[in-house]
Amino acid sequence: MTDSDSDSKDPSAGSAASNFIRNMIAQDLASQKHGGRVHTRFPPEPNGYLHIGHAKSICLNFGVAKENGGHCNLRFDDTNPAKESQEFVDAIKDNIAWLGFNWHGEVRYSSSYFDYLYDFAVQLIEKSQAFVCSLSPEESREHRGSLTEPGRNSPDRDRSVAENLQLFARMRGGEFAEGEYSLRAKIDMGSPNINMRDPVLYRIRHIDHHQTGDKWCIYPTYDYTHCISDAIENITHSLCTLEFEDHRPLYDWILHKLDSGSLRSVSDLSDSNFDYVLPEQTEFAKLKLNFTMMGKRNLKEMVESGVVNGWDDPRMPTLAGMRRRGFTPASIKNFCESVGVSRSESVVDMSMLEHAIREDLDSSAPRAMCVLNPLKLVLSNVDEGQAEHLELARHPKDESMGRRTVPFSRELLIDRSDFEAEPPPGFKRLIPGGEVRLRGAYIIRCDEVVEDSKGVVQQLNCTIDKDTLGKRPQGRKVKGVIHWVSAAHGVKAKLRLYDRLFNVQIPEGKDVQDYRQVLNPDSLIELNECMVEPSAVAEGASPNYQFEREGYFRLDAIDSTDELPVFNRTITLRDSWSSK
Ligand code: ATP
Ligand code: MG
Repeated sequence: MTDSDSDSKDPSAGSAASNFIRNMIAQDLASQKHGGRVHTRFPPEPNGYLHIGHAKSICLNFGVAKENGGHCNLRFDDTNPAKESQEFVDAIKDNIAWLGFNWHGEVRYSSSYFDYLYDFAVQLIEKSQAFVCSLSPEESREHRGSLTEPGRNSPDRDRSVAENLQLFARMRGGEFAEGEYSLRAKIDMGSPNINMRDPVLYRIRHIDHHQTGDKWCIYPTYDYTHCISDAIENITHSLCTLEFEDHRPLYDWILHKLDSGSLRSVSDLSDSNFDYVLPEQTEFAKLKLNFTMMGKRNLKEMVESGVVNGWDDPRMPTLAGMRRRGFTPASIKNFCESVGVSRSESVVDMSMLEHAIREDLDSSAPRAMCVLNPLKLVLSNVDEGQAEHLELARHPKDESMGRRTVPFSRELLIDRSDFEAEPPPGFKRLIPGGEVRLRGAYIIRCDEVVEDSKGVVQQLNCTIDKDTLGKRPQGRKVKGVIHWVSAAHGVKAKLRLYDRLFNVQIPEGKDVQDYRQVLNPDSLIELNECMVEPSAVAEGASPNYQFEREGYFRLDAIDSTDELPVFNRTITLRDSWSSK
């Protein structure tokens, strides 16, 4: 991937709303704190797919770099091989590229710094800042204390440097079982911050890694790895979410204990003569969205137990699912900009996300007609076998999208819900003896209703008024306009109508014991007998459409076949949430 983002400042930067991180970076640039550089990173752990919450972090990290002519790295924080995989690595890269962001240089992996991390651990041991501990995981927990009780020192805390070095080398050599030893920082077991109570830096794990294979049987912890990786990559602003606030003292402790000359010598900028300044961590609030679960553990559980059809199920809040459903990169980026960045946790209303996608698709999606529940309509004054080819605008406001050809013939299909034999008051569409306009075509009158033996309407026999094509007849009031598809020309399609996955606002909240109890049973409705106008499935058709009066849809890239196109409803035309 090339680094096209570093050439110039982003021209749109002026329009971005200010937030505390943008302000901080502006100040750091003004004071030349990092030599006038801005270098961020997005550090996902490849243990699941990215979700809309990650998009907030991606937009922030890549966004502030771009706005300031800086760089943003993509670094996989891959220190826990038990839960990680190449599938997740590939999906994450794909999602970020899809959003339209270019990472700086090659993709980074924390695991490619394992040699350095090991050497730095040796350095900490030599400085008496780390020791090899033989407490079992249970004993360590017991020694750690609690929020109200201080911890107790490990009996191994004063082991000699020589012995620590030897044991650490033997840990690496694979001589011990998992849990038999760990490497711990020597900080302060009495610290009110539990993260500072001699935290573990290395654990023994006899397990292969997706990047390093069987080279290692000891793996560094997240806290130890993250700060050093940032320093190696000369990150200036290490932006992360609020749960890491209490880890910041450890981040700083590790970097300040290490010899800055040796950090510098292995860093990306080791050949240049810039002032070496350590990276600094700044926290912001996570994105939370109502009616949505974002914890990766829960998302994984839903995939594995078959509650949804994979990570890219269009009901999932994953970027892969949203993409398949029809969300556009622009809508996601606009949403992330509109929720802003702050330090206060709040739950964002789903309607904000829906607003962002409707706004984007309203202007970008061409229009077409699709009948969801077809009812046959026969026009008695149109000859059999005769077809007219109407030229309709692809978009009502954007002429540059051009026109499409919509075939019109004797037998049409309309939606069942657009006809009522016994209309309720105010019903404006077709009724026995009544008139309605066919979208983009003629006014028709319903002359006869054909029912089967059970009284179910089978067919409507109608006549068209041939003088009404594109004309409003004088003195006649025809209020209703309905959509239609020519039966002989339409293409059969399957439509999937999606609704929210949960029927409570906070499915991960304290009062929900099991998310399975709050699943919306109607989150997916499949309609197999729909009929779509030919232009929407023609060669070169747009992937996103507004099917008039029915919503925005996207052709499913995976399940569609030549015989049966499958469309996913991205979103209805109007906000249906507020009324639910
Ligand atoms: P988990 O769900 O297992 O807690 P995670 O979502 O923190 O994991 P990571 O892969 O570590 O997953 O996240 C990568 C980056 O995205 C981190 O910097 C993290 O702070 C950020 N991030 C994760 N969730 C959100 C969110 N909801 N809003 C904003 N940023 C987020
Ligand atoms: Mg995380």
